[in-house]
Amino acid sequence: MLDFDSAQDRLIQAAAVPVRSERIPVDQALGRINAQVMYANLDIPPADNSAMDGYAVRHQDVTVDHPLPIQDHIYAGDEPMPLQSGKAIRLFTGSVIPEGADTVVMQEHCTEDNGTVEINRLPPQGANVRQRGEDMAKDQSIILQGQRLNSRHQALLASQGFTHIDVYPVPKIGILSTGDELVDPGKPLREGQIYNSNTPMLDGLIHELGAETVARRHAPDTIEGIQEALKQLTEICDVVLTVGGVSVGEKDFVKPAIEQMGGQMDLWRVRMKPGRPVTLAQVRRTPVIGLPGNPVSAYAVFVLMVSPLIRRLQGRTQILPPVLYGYLDSSRSFYGQRDEFLRVQAIPKSDGRLQLVPHPKQGSAMISSLAWANGLARIPADQEVNNGDIVRYYDFRLWTC
Ligand code: AMP
Ligand code: MG
Repeated sequence: MLDFDSAQDRLIQAAAVPVRSERIPVDQALGRINAQVMYANLDIPPADNSAMDGYAVRHQDVTVDHPLPIQDHIYAGDEPMPLQSGKAIRLFTGSVIPEGADTVVMQEHCTEDNGTVEINRLPPQGANVRQRGEDMAKDQSIILQGQRLNSRHQALLASQGFTHIDVYPVPKIGILSTGDELVDPGKPLREGQIYNSNTPMLDGLIHELGAETVARRHAPDTIEGIQEALKQLTEICDVVLTVGGVSVGEKDFVKPAIEQMGGQMDLWRVRMKPGRPVTLAQVRRTPVIGLPGNPVSAYAVFVLMVSPLIRRLQGRTQILPPVLYGYLDSSRSFYGQRDEFLRVQAIPKSDGRLQLVPHPKQGSAMISSLAWANGLARIPADQEVNNGDIVRYYDFRLWTC
């Protein structure tokens, strides 16, 4: 049996990093992956400017409570004339500092009267002036390669005047669900049938990660049906996810279907609960990952093991999101021979710790527990974990983006 971390690592290795990139407008770049280090085009701010509404002065000209004539008013966007000695210039947040001025006095510390201003409290020289290039200096790197772009990066790029950015292509994922018992929502259920919940779930996960589901197929439990769907999917997808039909039941035909197509399939009995087995095959040079059919297992395996693979395929540098820590709040203790991932709700406490409360139903078919939980607490194999013990916590918000 393979331990969880090794299985996670092996799956990551199955993904090829992207080689091509494409140039797109910055306003369409949300969620895309930056393909090249971006450098600053400009000093930001481009000129010294005021951080306050107030008066620009030459520090050495000021005597507290003595009036200075007001030479001019400068608003944000104006090009100022140089400050004459012994005078002050009225300005506002964002106004360019006139040549000759070195300090801005905030208006709350001044008294204006009849074209003059008294400085009632003088700040240190240089106060309230934002220096040219203080935020970003021209040519410094501002966004690293492999970074997933968010609205803050869009602001950064716009501040530098960029209209376009090079990003990696969006990976194309296919979903193949299997099972004679499955029906799509919207149709009536006959005796013995259930609705297909894994396909919408996986589709949502793929979307959250910033990849794209380009095709969904459903195959009955026959070798031919699975093969036909796999032929179509491997042609158009970078990765295919199959769900169900990969254990050792009589109708588990994914493995023979792949093998008869000439694919090599590794079936790993991963030492994790829920979740084993996970399979990885190459079919016509496309990785095909077999997820367990139980919804909780499929979700856990996707989040913990497939999401890193997709991030790598996207060209991201951060493939494994951070793992947090919390303490278990449970009246029962846990012990097992496999790493167990409990569906928990994490509650931040005022002492800075994270309380992890397991759902009472931990069975791998319990979809309600999945929707209730906000992450997974990891109980290590061969180790007894009791109430109050510190364990690793995989937060869904971090692991599904
Ligand atoms: P299998 O691995 O095909 O034996 O499936 C294990 C369990 O998961 C069975 O109870 C299936 O009915 C269920 N299952 C498989 N695929 C899905 C799906 N797409 N949606 C909901 N349940 C599923
Ligand atoms: Mg099945």
